[in-house]
Amino acid sequence: MAGKKVLIVYAHQEPKSFNGSLKDVAVEELRKQGCSVTVSDLYAMQFEPRATRNDIVGHVHNPEQFNYIVETREAYKRGGLSSDVVEEQKKVQEADLLIFQFPLYWFSMPAIMKGWMDRVLVQGFAYGFPEFYDSGLLKNKLALFSFTTGSPRETYTKGNTNGDIRYLLWPLQHGTMHFCGVKVLAPHMCFAPESVSEGQRKEMLTAWAQRLKTLWKEEPINCSSEWYFK
Ligand SMILES: Cc1cc2nc3c(=O)[nH]c(=O)nc-3n(C[C@H](O)[C@H](O)[C@H](O)COP(=O)(O)OP(=O)(O)OC[C@H]3O[C@@H](n4cnc5c(N)ncnc54)[C@H](O)[C@@H]3O)c2cc1C
Repeated sequence: MAGKKVLIVYAHQEPKSFNGSLKDVAVEELRKQGCSVTVSDLYAMQFEPRATRNDIVGHVHNPEQFNYIVETREAYKRGGLSSDVVEEQKKVQEADLLIFQFPLYWFSMPAIMKGWMDRVLVQGFAYGFPEFYDSGLLKNKLALFSFTTGSPRETYTKGNTNGDIRYLLWPLQHGTMHFCGVKVLAPHMCFAPESVSEGQRKEMLTAWAQRLKTLWKEEPINCSSEWYFK
């Protein structure tokens, strides 16, 4: 939809990867719609995933006993977070929609993306108490997790080896985005792109482009335990 702002947080080392192609499809389709699209290409940026003291510039609240949550909250209030975190927070603040594009690593997101969550979604910026879940500080935004797997779709069903794919999405969608108030759109999953034919991969890319055409009409999922563990 023209005028909407989208931030794609993208984690893959290789531009020619399938994830790279999914990211490119999204950039192209959303720009075609007149959206303003920003990409945080985490590996290309060499994004620092570790939550450390270096995230605080200048004054440390309690140098005797460093507490990351407290220090980042206080630093956020006085404008004392490191510039790379501030930069990402600005992108989040401006975005209507956050798309996370990544390959599934150990039933989760790659460490570099987890580090983005750890460092960017600071208390006071993304959530507070009592500003969490439906009252989270990012409550007027949407998020969509778009990812690829190594294992085929049938292994990610209830009672099968990997279990229902929705189990894995609980910490990602619910524990981070919903916790911060963000409404979550249905995930977009491409199963086992390495193991299918070239033609099937092209179909997956076309299906992603097709979905994006009507994305703004979608209703968020009911991000509660029933959706994940029914
Ligand atoms: C540390 C680690 C942990 C992992 N944990 C899990 C796990 O828990 N569960 C699980 O299921 N998997 C797991 N995996 C596997 C991983 O999820 C897959 O390898 C990954 O999702 C595949 O996506 P990709 O973008 O890297 O594929 P790629 O290998 O980059 O792409 C697949 C194929 O698509 C081709 N391609 C790229 N662009 C196009 C295009 N435009 N048109 C047609 N073809 C194209 C590529 O050339 C390649 O041949 C893990 C992998 C690692 C490294």
